[in-house]
Amino acid sequence: MKLLLDEPLMNYTFTKTGGPADVLAFPKTREEVEALINYCQETAFPWLVLGNASNLIVRDGGIRGLVIMLLDMKEIRVEGTMITVEAGARLIDTSYAALAEGLTGLEFACGIPGSIGGAVFMNAGAYGGEIKDVFVSSDVLFPDGTVCTLTNEEMNFSYRHSDIQQMQGIVLNARFELEQGDEGMIRTKMEELTYLRESKQPLEYPSCGSVFKRPEGHFTGKLIQDAGMQGLIWGGAQISEKHAGFIVNINQATATDYVELIAHIQEVIKEKFDVQLEPEVRIIGEES
Ligand code: FAD
Repeated sequence: MKLLLDEPLMNYTFTKTGGPADVLAFPKTREEVEALINYCQETAFPWLVLGNASNLIVRDGGIRGLVIMLLDMKEIRVEGTMITVEAGARLIDTSYAALAEGLTGLEFACGIPGSIGGAVFMNAGAYGGEIKDVFVSSDVLFPDGTVCTLTNEEMNFSYRHSDIQQMQGIVLNARFELEQGDEGMIRTKMEELTYLRESKQPLEYPSCGSVFKRPEGHFTGKLIQDAGMQGLIWGGAQISEKHAGFIVNINQATATDYVELIAHIQEVIKEKFDVQLEPEVRIIGEES
């Protein structure tokens, strides 16, 4: 198994920021993940699992202990209308695998850059679709070594939430139930959504996507624009001029730039509009 020591996580995060992991592991099989967790439990070594690091800010001090990335576990299997995907496969590749079989239901996911594990954890969604709409079940490995199959109901999905967020479990795979559709129509839908995304989002810069969850009754980008903050530069980070809900890394930003700018936006929006913005992005690791 590939194991890297003192590996800078900025090489993996979509914001291109973040300090090192003491140990970074890339298991290729479920058995290798189980062996890693077993070792960590026996030696009380701290561990954490990451997906494609597209919804993460890792603070500049990095992460102590073992970080497991499942990106080498990426099998996608289609049987009839059911797709079974290993946790490290990209959601984008999964949506294209569905297209290739003329299966409809995952078009919404064609531009979300996360892994399957991260998408289940976050209940990723876009343009009116969410993981919960097509999710059947996942095998989840718990620290005591047990593997349980959790169903859609047991995940208790809601907006950018699944109950995995409260459990210390590793999503090993996911099963999605899709419907037979028309390949041409599926392709057209995916092209339309890709066009929308490319025209509205600052994909030319590193970012973590939408920084904040959508607050009830408001749009985050509009609040930030109305507060006069769009374009604000903080160290090497900037509130995107194209989409105010994104913070882009324009000039070697640090995780500290991101964390401080997020706190500043929250403070200003609370003060001006009495709205509490809640980060969608996960902020983890130690300060430098
Ligand atoms: P990571 O960022 O690696 O991790 C996120 C969390 O999931 C972490 O807490 C991690 O511990 C946990 N996790 C990851 N894998 C596992 C696993 N196997 N088992 C248990 N826990 C795990 N999101 C949307 O919902 N809709 C969008 O339209 C969207 N657009 C985006 C556009 C851009 C340009 C970017 C950069 C991001 C966008 N995102 C969007 C955010 C992100 O892609 C999603 O939240 C995605 O689901 C995160 O997946 P990941 O694999 O990158 O997870």
